[in-house]
Order: sequence, then C-alpha cells, then structure tokens
Amino acid sequence: MSILKNYINGNWQSSTSKETIDVVNPADQQVLAKVPYGPDMKNDVAEAVIAAQKAYREWSKVPVMKRVQALYHLKSLLEENSEVLAEIITNESGKTKAESFGEIQRAIENVEVACGTPMLMAGDVIEDIATGIDEMMIRQPLGVAACITPFNFPSMIVFWFLPYAIATGNAFIVKPSEKVPLTMMKIFEFIDQLDVPKGLVNLVHGGKDSVDAILEHPQIKAISFVGSTPVARYIYSKGTANGKRVQAQGGAKNPVVILPDSDIEMSTKIIADSVYGCAGQRCLAASTIITVDDQQREVKDALYETVKSRTTGYGWEEGVNMGPVITPESKTRIEGLIQKGIDEGAQVLLDGRNASISGYEKGNFITPTILENVALDKELIKTEIFGPVMSLISMTTIDEALSFVNSGNYGNMACLFTGSGANARKFRNEADAGNIGINIGVAAPMAQFPFSGWKDSFFGDLHGQGKHAIEFFTQTKVIIERWPNIWSRKF
Ligand code: NAD
Repeated sequence: MSILKNYINGNWQSSTSKETIDVVNPADQQVLAKVPYGPDMKNDVAEAVIAAQKAYREWSKVPVMKRVQALYHLKSLLEENSEVLAEIITNESGKTKAESFGEIQRAIENVEVACGTPMLMAGDVIEDIATGIDEMMIRQPLGVAACITPFNFPSMIVFWFLPYAIATGNAFIVKPSEKVPLTMMKIFEFIDQLDVPKGLVNLVHGGKDSVDAILEHPQIKAISFVGSTPVARYIYSKGTANGKRVQAQGGAKNPVVILPDSDIEMSTKIIADSVYGCAGQRCLAASTIITVDDQQREVKDALYETVKSRTTGYGWEEGVNMGPVITPESKTRIEGLIQKGIDEGAQVLLDGRNASISGYEKGNFITPTILENVALDKELIKTEIFGPVMSLISMTTIDEALSFVNSGNYGNMACLFTGSGANARKFRNEADAGNIGINIGVAAPMAQFPFSGWKDSFFGDLHGQGKHAIEFFTQTKVIIERWPNIWSRKF
C-alpha cells in the first residue's frame, strides 16, 4: 500500500512523519492509500514554506501576462484529464460520476476567471490630484499563502483560491482533507508540468497538526479555509491573532421556502436534487423545506414521488443518483440524528437507515430520508446534518417563514420558490444569508462572484472566487509622485 508523498519544491518527497492514516473508498471500505499524518508534519510545512518563499521572490517579478500562461496550460490539462480525475473523486469521496465531472467543471471555471487577472488586478491613478502631483494605487502580492480544504469537494474548493493566488504573484501551499488527498495528488501531476518556479505551488498532507503548523508559521501571510464551523472559527481567531489575513468558510443549514404560487412539480424536482445531491454533503445542500399556507400535503406527495425513485449506489455506476456518505462514523451520526428527530415527534415519510446496496454491503449508504413536522426548537432543525435527510415543516405566511429562515445561526444559503416577483424581491432583500436562490435549489455562485456565506458560515471579509479573491491575495500600495518640471531647464 503506497504512502502518499508531499510535493515540495517541485519534487515528490516522502513525509518526515512516519504516522499514517488510511484513505478509504466510502462505497466499499477498500483502502486506497495511506496518507502521512501527525505532529511531525510540521517539518514538512516548514520545508514547503522555505521553498515557497524562494519561489515567491522570483515569481512576483514575472509579468502578470506571463504568469497567467501557466493557468491556460493548467486549464487544458484539467480538461484533457477530467475523466481520470472524476473517477478518483468518486472513489475517494463517494460522489456520482455526474457530480464529480460537475465539480471539475467548476474548478476549471475558476482557472478561466483567474486568467483575467491582468485586468482584474489593475490599480487606479489620478493625475494631478494636486497641482503637479499624481497619485496611484497598485496591487502587490502578499508572499506565501495556504489553503486548507474539506472532504466534500476534493478538486473544486482548492480552485476557489489557488489560481487567483498564483496569478496575482503569490506562492501557494495546499493542505487537502486527509480523507480525500488522492484528487490533489493527480492535480499536482499537472501542476508539475507547468512552467513556474520550483516551490511555487506545494502540497502538504496531514490533519490538525499540519493546520496548526500553517497557523503558526510567521512567513505564511494568508490562509483560506473551508470546512466545519468550529474549525473555521478556530482558524480565523488563531490565524488573525498571528497577524495573518484569513478567510474561513464554515458549515451551513440551508432553508428552502415553497410558496403556494410556485410550480410545485418543477420546485420539488429541484429541491430533491438540492437535498440529496452529493448525499446531502454539500455546504449548499437544502436541509429544511418550509411549505407556506396549507399546501404541505401537495408538496409532500410530490416530493415523495420524486425522491423515492432516486437510485443510491456506487457513484461510478450508470444510473446511480446518490453515493454513500464519507465515513462509517458519519453514517452513524446521521442515523442518530434521524432517530433523535423521530424521538422528538417527527413523522417518517421515507427512512433511509439500514440501507444495504447489493455488491456494496460494506458501504456507508443511507438512502433518501424525509421527516415531516420536525419540532422547530429541537436539534434536527438547528444542526448541520450533512447527509441525505430532508426535514419538512409548515408555516402560515411568508413573514413567518422569513423569520424562521433568519432565526438560524448559519447564513450560507436560503432559497425561495415562487411565481411572484414581489415575493421574490422581498425574500432576496430580507433573508439573512449570503447566497440566495430564487427558483434555484443550489445557489452556488459562479466563479465570477464571491462565495458569499454570512453569520456562522463565514469568518472574514473577502470571500473566495472572482474579484474578492484578487483582493484577498493582494495588498494595496498608494504612491504619490511629484516630478519637478525639468523640461523648462536649459541643458
Ligand atoms: P472539517 O472542518 O472536519 O475539516 C476541514 C479541514 O480542516 C480538513 O483539511 C481537516 O484536516 C482540517 N481540520 C479538521 N479538524 C481540525 C482541527 N480540529 N483543527 C485544525 N484543522 C482541522 O470539515 P469536513 O468534514 O472535511 O467538511 C465538511 C464541512 O465543511 C461541513 O461543515 C460543510 O458545510 C463545510 N463546507 C463549507 C463550505 C462553504 O463554502 N461554506 C464548502 C464545503 C464544505
């Protein structure tokens, strides 16, 4: 069984840590690789920073038009190899084939947007801000930046940051989730082919110890984190206390409101995709569905019909709509939350516990679950389930639904299904969430826009993707110049 190597200073090298943990296919528990782990990973982080710092000095002097040529090359390598990448994503994370291809596409779109850096990082100039004096603002890179990513999007999330960081002249370190490191191993084979200085982009494995080494290293100037809220909060507070620029995206609990004037058939199909896509392991997964004004029965019946026909199984097989959840511990936790909801008074319309998939009996499968009339003040409504569980609740007015939406701690996404522009306008204006969907089930911002979580779903100022990423990875410098008029002198 191979032990994964780090990619540091342009070389694949063994970790200094002898400790490892298994990377496991969640569909059948097959061990795919061993990934280095543990406190000695701090040596690997330190080595990566030395290499990155050296590369940064050279790279920041390379003209931006030349820097983005590496991104054009990376885009074509990702496109040419998308099939092999998608299969790795499915095998280590459990996603379906379509979901794996979908996230690669989103990664590529971020590379494309970052190719616009020669325009996006342009500064401002005012000539004659005072008589004979010009003032300009330019953007300069920060130095070495790092990202720490979760298991649920093994390729895409790194690309909310990496292409922008290097296009603006920084060096970069990637610390992927220890549960899904194989996708980045493959992507770093492509990075190895780019015409960039050795050490510009580095891959260091591990878990909390690697993260702590990143948080403590004085030469790492910026950290981009995506993961659960407690870890996001920890990284934001420790990173900023250590003087770093930090953007930390956390967990979520996303409500969806269906008004009586919506197209029920279309809405329920979209909502089912939103709840059960990636087995509910998406930070933008719909979780609580709120029907308004006595239409619960109609919505419930339509949802039931749509959901019961979904096929759960090994994601690479044709016709499978939903894969397993990531670990046996995750399956146990989700099944425990379903039981708790039932104990607290919810009725079960579909119970996905104790699922057994033929040929994949050891997999972490839970089939789609629907709970109705879940108690509003109880854990199931407040906790991020991160599994294929829909909680159906009923309210009487849009105002009541809105005040429920705004009562949660998270603010990643809120969606409304309606046929009324006035209701849509009210919702998008008043809902306390950073990403709003109107007749859209997964309001995932495209690469041009910031991935805009609020409340406990985000700690920081500038989000990932687009112009926010350009700003995050650069610091502004203002120059005021006066040039005495030498032309009038006689030589
Ligand atoms: P996680 O927080 O367990 O892990 C994320 C990263 O942090 C991993 O690289 C891991 O090695 C590291 N880590 C874990 N525990 C740590 C600790 N105690 N100290 C320091 N580092 C630690 O998250 P996960 O289970 O991999 O991912 C699922 C979570 O990510 C969900 O809560 C989901 O909502 C969230 N998520 C959020 C977004 C978003 O855009 N807001 C996107 C995707 C996922």
